[in-house]
Order: sequence, then structure tokens, then C-alpha cells
Amino acid sequence: MLTGGEGALTVTVRMKVSPEPEYEKAVLDLLRRHRDALNYSVRTLIANRALSLTKAHKLLYKDLKERYGLPAIIAVGCYREAIAIARSWLKNPKRGAVPTAKALSMWLAYELGYRVKGDYIELARGYRLRVIGWDRRYDNYPNREARLVFRDGEFTLYVLKRVPRPAKYAPKGVLAVDVNERQIVVGNSSVEQRVETPVERALRYRRLAERLEEKYSSSRYMAWRRRRGIRRRVRHFRRKARNILEDWARKTSHMIISLAKQGQLAVAREDLTGLVESLRKLPKEHRTALIALGYRRLGYWMDWQAEKNGVPLFVVDPAGTSTTCPRCGAELVEVGYRRLRCPRCGLEADRDTIAVLNIERRALNQMGGTLASPTAPQVTDVSPNRWGEPP
Ligand SMILES: [Zn+2]
Repeated sequence: MLTGGEGALTVTVRMKVSPEPEYEKAVLDLLRRHRDALNYSVRTLIANRALSLTKAHKLLYKDLKERYGLPAIIAVGCYREAIAIARSWLKNPKRGAVPTAKALSMWLAYELGYRVKGDYIELARGYRLRVIGWDRRYDNYPNREARLVFRDGEFTLYVLKRVPRPAKYAPKGVLAVDVNERQIVVGNSSVEQRVETPVERALRYRRLAERLEEKYSSSRYMAWRRRRGIRRRVRHFRRKARNILEDWARKTSHMIISLAKQGQLAVAREDLTGLVESLRKLPKEHRTALIALGYRRLGYWMDWQAEKNGVPLFVVDPAGTSTTCPRCGAELVEVGYRRLRCPRCGLEADRDTIAVLNIERRALNQMGGTLASPTAPQVTDVSPNRWGEPP
């Protein structure tokens, strides 16, 4: 998503669409044929080690059109996508089985693959889909390629647009973000807000999935049809867990970036790579896996929202942010549950407050700003869930 040249960003506009009744079956059929064609293309390209457009075209174009009945422009999109899948699979040293697409989705080139006509989207072959709703903020920017997806009984068109990258303002201060497995702490020397992570809620769904799998792994339940139903439910629970984290990451980052923009502050976050890596090395436990996923998604969304809103963002070294004194740099000692005290200057605070102050200081150093010795933190502990839950 964070692509585009120096001066531009590629944003995705989500459009809810619905095929006209007379085209619904045809559109679904096309998506299914496309999925089968894509899987066929990936296998063929890998078997022939053919990764160039010319080779792919020669190997596949005719089949995709004649055997799979894809319109010409969609056939081209299909083998292009197959090249990308084959390439990343071949590049992966730990590759397993050849990947198989299950979802119903396809790329559509603008103009030839799809067109916007008033309240309608017209696909190649004249299939019409009614546009139900979309984010109109980017209406003035030209459409580029789009992806049509059918999921849970609904059609969505994701349209890519190129928009100018907003200029970043000169920050008046720093809003630091500290993450730990229970919460996100956002603040600086004068404010502080805490947001709980939804890991426990997501974990419930992961456990449901787990329990189902265990229960039905015995041979008594091997009937094929039965297993298929169970597998679907297991997938549903897993997806639900992922969605909870994704939703939270998006909303939390939006809150952080808006807060920064309001105060014309830069956002500073720790480099989470090390943290995510170390979590990954732990024994495969659901909780750690979900925490790692949450961190990664939060990092991703914060960076993206900052770009989109022209908010300066700094990534700081996380080493020692919760063990050194933000005022004098001495090593802190623990004086209670998650409470730390500086033996040199006497500063005493909650571990997460300390981390936020250190992140703020590191970002100020990176900005080359002069750092006045921070005043004792004025902690405004609000209801932790104020921003944690969607409104
Ligand atoms: Zn100190």
C-alpha cells in the first residue's frame, strides 16, 4: 500500500458493489474461472520456470481465454498475478507446497478491465455492478487498476488511486508510543493516554478454533462432509481473531496520528522488529503469535497513516527504554509491580511512563532539537479502553 514515487502515494478506495441481478451468476462464474485459471497459471509458470511476461503470455494466454473463458484483458491480469505469486514462491527458501488461491478475487485494469459509469461499474463483457457506497475523499484523483473481491456473500471493488504525498509539518514536540502486551501507552512529558490491546478477545477465538480442531481430529469424525464444515468454522474463528487485531491496529493508529496532527507533534515509536522477532522465537503459543501480529499491524498502520496525513514519524532504538532514567540516564531500580525509581535523581514512575519519556527523548535527539530536562510526568490516566474499542 505504501508505494508510489517520491511525490505520490497509492491509496486504496474501497467500493461496495453489487452485480445487477441478471449478471450476478455470470460475475461469480467469472471469478471462479479466474481462480482456477490463476492456480493453473501458477503451476505452469513454476513447472516451466517462466517468469517473464513474454514467456507467460506464450504459455498461458490462449488457454486462459479458450479453456477458462477469460476476457482477454482479464487473462493478462491473471498471468501477471501468477508471475508475482510464482516469483515470490520461488524466492522463498522455506517454500512448502505450490500455493493455491482459494479466495475469489481478480485484478482489473482500468478502462479495459473495468469502467466507472455514473453509479455503475462495468466489467469487461458488459457485466454491470451497482456502486453502493465508497469513500469520496479521493474522487478527484484518477482511478488506476482495481481488485474485485467476493467474500462472505459480498462484492467489493478496491480501486487504487495515486494521490500527492502531503508535505510534513515542522513538529512542535513529540508524541511517543510505547507498546507492551497489555496496552499501548501514548504520551510525552505532559500528557499520557493508555489503550488496551484486544489480545485476550482475539485469543478467545483462537482457542475456539483450537478446541474444534482437537475435538474433531479423532477418526470418528472423518466423514468428509463433516470435516469440511468443521474446517470452515475453524477458518472462520481464525479469521475473526485476525480481524479483531487488524481493526484495533487501524483504529488505534488513526487515533494516535490524529492526536499528533492536532497538536502538530511528531510521532515516535520504537523499532518493533527486534520485539516481533524475539516473540517469534518463543515456543508457538497463541498469545505471543497474536501479540506479534498486533504489533506488526500497528506499526504498519501508524507508518501509513503518518504518510497519508503528513505527520512526521520517527523510529527509535528500543534498547533500554524501560530500564534507564529519562531524566539523567542512570539505571533504574524496581520498587514495586511495574514501578521504577532512579537511584541518582529520584524520579519514580510506572514502567510504561518511563518508556514513553525515553522514546520522546530519543526522538527529540534524532530531531536535533534541544532537550530541556523533562519535568516530572503529569500522568493523566484515563479509562484505558477509551480508544481501545470501536465507537
Ligand atoms: Zn535519574
